[in-house]
Amino acid sequence: MAEKTMKNRRVLLFPFPFQGHINPMLELAAVLRSRSFSVTIFHTEYNYEAIHPSKYPSYRFITIPDRVSKLTSSSQDHVLSLICALNDNCTTPFRESLAQVLSEGDWKSSVPCLVLDMHWYKINPIAKLLGVPTLVLRTGSAASLNGFITLPALYRKGILPSKAEWELELAVEELPPMRVRDMIAVGNDPEQLLNFVVLDAENARTSLGIIINTSQAMEGAELDKLQRDLALPAFAVGPLHKHDMINLEAATTNTSPSSCTLKLLDRERDQDRLCMEWLDSHPPKSVLYVSFGSLASMDPKDFTEMAWGLADSSQPFLWVVRSGSVESVLRVELALPDGFRNATHGIGKIVEWAPQRDILAHRAIGGFWTHCGWNSTVESIAEGIPMICTPFFSDQMGNTRYVSDVWKVGLELRTPLERGKVERSVRRLMTTEDGEEMRARARDLQGMLSECIQKEGCSYKAVDDLVGLLLSLSPSLSE
Ligand code: UDP
Repeated sequence: MAEKTMKNRRVLLFPFPFQGHINPMLELAAVLRSRSFSVTIFHTEYNYEAIHPSKYPSYRFITIPDRVSKLTSSSQDHVLSLICALNDNCTTPFRESLAQVLSEGDWKSSVPCLVLDMHWYKINPIAKLLGVPTLVLRTGSAASLNGFITLPALYRKGILPSKAEWELELAVEELPPMRVRDMIAVGNDPEQLLNFVVLDAENARTSLGIIINTSQAMEGAELDKLQRDLALPAFAVGPLHKHDMINLEAATTNTSPSSCTLKLLDRERDQDRLCMEWLDSHPPKSVLYVSFGSLASMDPKDFTEMAWGLADSSQPFLWVVRSGSVESVLRVELALPDGFRNATHGIGKIVEWAPQRDILAHRAIGGFWTHCGWNSTVESIAEGIPMICTPFFSDQMGNTRYVSDVWKVGLELRTPLERGKVERSVRRLMTTEDGEEMRARARDLQGMLSECIQKEGCSYKAVDDLVGLLLSLSPSLSE
């Protein structure tokens, strides 16, 4: 790559500060870096530690003050309020930071494009005002975005919220194969949710296109519908984390991390190594990995039933229990039922955080009990691992529908949990022929995803198209 071209290929990224949004944006950064773009990442003070800037010495990071407090509850209404507060509070500091970046001498030769998370609905107009073109990154599935866009109409028609138990089983005609129970719950404050989905969709509509962490192999029809309804190009580049980033090593090692950073990274690596060593001691496909992502918080009763169901199944498990995994319980030891450690000694390992992608790729993993966040769903399929799905909120119910009934690579296990049912579900996935069939289908889908990211594959081509669009925004870039 000629020095001049590298210098001109620039992109600005603004992830939304939740783990499940930061990860795909950083993966997109790596994909673009591997295509010789230099990367500048804006990040809020909120959850700054989740981005680990020290791991990416070749990126420039710019901090945006936000004045929001940590979540006290991860209910859907609280998460929505936080999204709104972040949009309100970041508008002015972001405008100032973007203006500052644009005023710097070496930016003047080419206007960089800003890729912003779809939830940053108040940021798009600011970029426009400063003459910066935008693309949005959607970190959920195409199906869930179709669902979000259709939500106001379903609400107006009285289909949502459902009024009686039997209505939950009704098909949503506009969104096959969804039923009412697969849709996002409207919650205590419908106005807030509807307002939010309208703003999010508007954010997408006023950008040049959507980058989406899915693939034609998983969601061909859903992507067609999305592009038709939004009248926008959708770049289905997923699974983002599996692209072969040849130049990534160079991207992340051309500046040396400080010794303090190295110590922190070493400590993290130590914890991760212990997980992997534990898995090394198990036979292939024997361990159930259990994790409900970075936000979900369980009812204490469900958590107790989950724990005893796991113990009673006698299957080896690696379980992520974070501070906050159980409502109002900050210390992991206080969350676990009395006697559980003893009862599962030798079959179970509990950690507070795990290197999930490496774990799912380990030969000892035979199943994943997940909340069906979109990243977890894609990461599991990308390794050919079948799932038990326990959704909590937002798009997780819809993702569960696809896992269990469309791709048929998992089974649904909704709350309230009951230990007998938990035990049977774990055994079904890990020990029966039925579970083996789900595993075989997951492996087929894994094969298709792997083809998507090879040269000439659909996701690889989507990255080519995306790079083509970025370069076309300023003719000097393609010199
Ligand atoms: N994750 C991880 N270790 C953990 C739990 C989660 O690395 O112990 C990562 C996981 O690989 C995924 C992200 O955090 O990339 C969670 O995103 P997801 O969409 O699955 O769920 P969310 O946290 O947004 O509910």
